[in-house]
Amino acid sequence: MKLEAAGEETQSTEEVLKAQIALPIPNSPAYDYKIPQEFSSKIKPGVRVQIPFRNKKIIGVVVSHDKGQSFKGLRDIIAVLDEEPILRECDLMLSQWMSEEYYCSWGEALNQLIPNYLLSKTSSVDFFNEKYKILEDSVSVSVAPSPHELTEEQSQVLDLVQREEGKPALIQGVTGSGKTEVYLRLIEKYLDRGKSSICLFPEIALSEQIKHTFIERFSSRLEILHSRLTPLEKFKAWLKIKSGKVQIVLGPRSALFAPFSNLGLIIIDEEQEFTYKQDQVPRYHTREAAKKLAELTGAQLVMGTATPSLETRYACDSGAVARAVLTKRVTDRTLPQVEIVDMSEEFQRKKRPVLFSDRLKEEIDKNLQEKQGTLIFLNRRGFSTFIHCLSCGTILSCGSCEVPLTFHMGDGKLLCHYCEFKCKVLLNCPDCGQPTLKYGGMGTEKLESEIAKVFPRAKIGRADSDIARKKGKVTQVLNDFKEGKIDILIGTQMIAKGFDFPQVTLVGVVLADVGLSLPDFRANEKTFQLLTQVAGRAGRGDVPGRVIIQTYQHDHHVIQNASRQDYEHFYSEEVERRKELSYPPFSNLVNIILKGKVEKRLLDFANELRFHFDQHNKDKESVVLGPAPLPIHKLRDYYRWHLMIKGTDKAKILQHIRETLAEIKKPSAIQLLVDVDPVSVL
Ligand code: ADP
Ligand code: ZN
Repeated sequence: MKLEAAGEETQSTEEVLKAQIALPIPNSPAYDYKIPQEFSSKIKPGVRVQIPFRNKKIIGVVVSHDKGQSFKGLRDIIAVLDEEPILRECDLMLSQWMSEEYYCSWGEALNQLIPNYLLSKTSSVDFFNEKYKILEDSVSVSVAPSPHELTEEQSQVLDLVQREEGKPALIQGVTGSGKTEVYLRLIEKYLDRGKSSICLFPEIALSEQIKHTFIERFSSRLEILHSRLTPLEKFKAWLKIKSGKVQIVLGPRSALFAPFSNLGLIIIDEEQEFTYKQDQVPRYHTREAAKKLAELTGAQLVMGTATPSLETRYACDSGAVARAVLTKRVTDRTLPQVEIVDMSEEFQRKKRPVLFSDRLKEEIDKNLQEKQGTLIFLNRRGFSTFIHCLSCGTILSCGSCEVPLTFHMGDGKLLCHYCEFKCKVLLNCPDCGQPTLKYGGMGTEKLESEIAKVFPRAKIGRADSDIARKKGKVTQVLNDFKEGKIDILIGTQMIAKGFDFPQVTLVGVVLADVGLSLPDFRANEKTFQLLTQVAGRAGRGDVPGRVIIQTYQHDHHVIQNASRQDYEHFYSEEVERRKELSYPPFSNLVNIILKGKVEKRLLDFANELRFHFDQHNKDKESVVLGPAPLPIHKLRDYYRWHLMIKGTDKAKILQHIRETLAEIKKPSAIQLLVDVDPVSVL
């Protein structure tokens, strides 16, 4: 890491003590400050200090200190805020690694690991421990015994993970195979050894049920983190974890940074979930950061899922990750029966497009008669998703984003799904004036009204992000469904994950093709995962489940393998395709995204960037694609272009990007961001 003085660089010969302080400023190294004599014994890596920066006083974190030549402009540290480092040694190394791996400054990465509250307060951690009575004794409770005896498969998995200790492990288990119970047992084993555990769930799956299970087992030894905590609540939780008052943390990706001093185990449930990649600086992937943290602390990493990411499953083939499988659901529940319905055949037979196949109708009818729950899934919200003029062909789209507008009947408005744009429903075409606008396409809202027409006596509910905007509404809908007050629940991917509704015996997927045609090399993977997860919602109670998948591409390998719930077969086909196209896991991608309001200037800069990058990449080790417009070309008035760099040596790519950006001047009206290992390129 290159260091730089915060002031002017005039030579002087005086020998002084200096501290290097990381600040959350983009593209900046750590800054040098002078350590006044009275602080010389207090400065250690990991303590907070107050420093002058430009014309403000700010809080920074010491990352190192040394003796050296002073420069005239070197400014003094104003105050040392902590007696002891607030960070562990591994935090400093982890954040430095993050800054190198994910293209940000050390300070930006470090700030991810420190509670925000602490970065705005000058009191010491000891002061807060006192104030919130964190260190006062609490009764140590014992762990409640498990209500279950492990199945043979569960015991084997537990054994394997322990046998292979030291190597990351993947528990690949079908939905309902009891992975959670295995996690709980592992956590207990580490507790017995005096070690703490972090258990990560994607936010959406932090369902009441999982919380309940963990609380029942671990009561006050557990801390649950979630994104709705206030900064003060987060800070208090941090203090409790740091002081050793709790030994288990359950939470979303940020819980990885729980400051345990004796970390023994990191569990990542549903490791393939894309919410594990942070979409703002630092753009880290939780799984990779967890691997690094495990390496630094000696903790065991365990990942669990029914549908591993291609990267993780491939790492099992190469021997870097140990793999344990759970092939059966617990208590002999069978996996649901899946049936594919070919909608193009249905179309030919009926000579008109239909929403529901006869098969799906029959099965819904049967469920209504038998008073069992039905879940209908469509990954598109709104009523009409495509409005075009039959006279002139115009498609109504958002002026700021250039994406088609969606009609929402509930609001009586046309909405853009990418910005806040809204307008009244139009009857005449804004271009030619003819009253020939056709409201085509279909979202969950229209689906709801269609189902109501076909099944007038059914009680229908809907859960999508339109509903989610009304506070508490989704929870209410889900509760009503659980209590049987709703017969048919319609939803988007929001309801695909994590929810356990024992009374659901039928799941219908209205259009399985929705995600397959997206211009994204992960489209197959995402669709397979989604279909498997949706199917996994069926038959979690005593009655076996049925799943009906409607599709226009019934022989697509993703649809076929998803219908057989055959991950391994899907994987073997998909990994070949990735290899052929040299996509991850066979390469690394780095996406450079450029945004600006004036498209010509944006393009000029993109071309300049490309030209300079090519100079560094002379031997063509990396492949550069673009500049090309992003699939969503214009968003909130900003044009968006990108350069995609693909290669096998990530460090080299990043080095070339650093060199390139150091030699060209980016116009301030253009935003540039570097996304390493992107999970989405829309
Ligand atoms: P997964 O996470 O693999 O989808 P879960 O952990 O949710 O599966 O387990 C499904 C259900 O099976 C849960 O209700 C859980 O309490 C129950 N269960 C887990 N292990 C056992 C067991 N050994 N015996 C009986 N029931 C079990
Ligand atoms: Zn818009």
